[in-house]
Amino acid sequence: MTFDIKIKCRRGHVFAKELYPTKHDMALTLESNNNKTMRLHKQFCHLDIQQVKDTAQKLGVNVDDVNNKINCEDCKMAKAKQKAVPKKDETKSLTPGERLCINSSSINTRSAKKKFWILVEDQAISMKWSFFVNNKKDQVNPIIELIKEIHETTDWKVSFI
Ligand SMILES: [Zn+2]
Repeated sequence: MTFDIKIKCRRGHVFAKELYPTKHDMALTLESNNNKTMRLHKQFCHLDIQQVKDTAQKLGVNVDDVNNKINCEDCKMAKAKQKAVPKKDETKSLTPGERLCINSSSINTRSAKKKFWILVEDQAISMKWSFFVNNKKDQVNPIIELIKEIHETTDWKVSFI
């Protein structure tokens, strides 16, 4: 196929080819039922078989010899699910205070003086503490203070953050 039409566009050129519809039934006389089914299926962007037949019929294609099933590897691949990754965290702490998880989010409001929201969560019991700081590096001191406070006011021992 020769792309013999040069179309100018904003960043250069695109080459194109003018295509003319063929008389489908004539073109398909030597094609097997399977090949015709697959060709139509691919031409119609992997529609299911009923949609393929309906669309082909509307375009004037004889669908009497189109199979009722499609054996398309691409569709099988697309439908195959990725093996699920176990969501359970094997290292999850069950001891209160042992593991603190820290998450930070930026705050977009112009009026907010503090730009980062630091959320600390105890992994075992989901207890949460929030801090607001100007810079991400400013989160260190409040977290140290939090850990000191936890050690002073409870019998918890923070081991992981
Ligand atoms: Zn397909």
